[in-house]
Amino acid sequence: MQDANCIFCRIVSGKTKARIVRENDHALAFLDAFPLSPGHTLVVPKIHYSKIQDMDKKYCSAVFSLTCELAAILETTIEVSASTIAIHNGKDAGQEVPHVHIHIVPRSINDGGGPIHSMFNSRPKLNEEEIDLLADKMRKGLSM
Ligand code: AMP
Ligand code: ZN
Repeated sequence: MQDANCIFCRIVSGKTKARIVRENDHALAFLDAFPLSPGHTLVVPKIHYSKIQDMDKKYCSAVFSLTCELAAILETTIEVSASTIAIHNGKDAGQEVPHVHIHIVPRSINDGGGPIHSMFNSRPKLNEEEIDLLADKMRKGLSM
């Protein structure tokens, strides 16, 4: 349920201080200690899950529902009109803290950031048939 060595579990249990801004039964939101922009917020499930696909449905709902509330609140309190919502779902995707967390990063037009596409220098050269095959493979995977 909780991992004593996990910084976010320690925040959930109150053992480590954090700037908590909102919570519900199964999720907690607090400010990122090293923000990418003012108001950068993290939303976490109240028990330890490493990846989103591991989460029980009630935790998925709680985390996403709190994220939606916070996205709206941030726009009025930080006075921005957009945010980037991101999850590093696993180490290879850049996840440093192995406890599921959604980043809500308030954005503005001249903040120097870009869209998710700017994370990649190139795109794989896939033809229509290859993309169709991938869709087919995924459909079969999803129906198993
Ligand atoms: P990630 O790379 O997706 O695992 O991001 C982890 C995030 O957690 C980073 O943006 C860190 O700045 C943030 N972080 C790490 N330790 C703390 C902490 N004690 N309180 C709040 N945010 C933290
Ligand atoms: Zn944890």
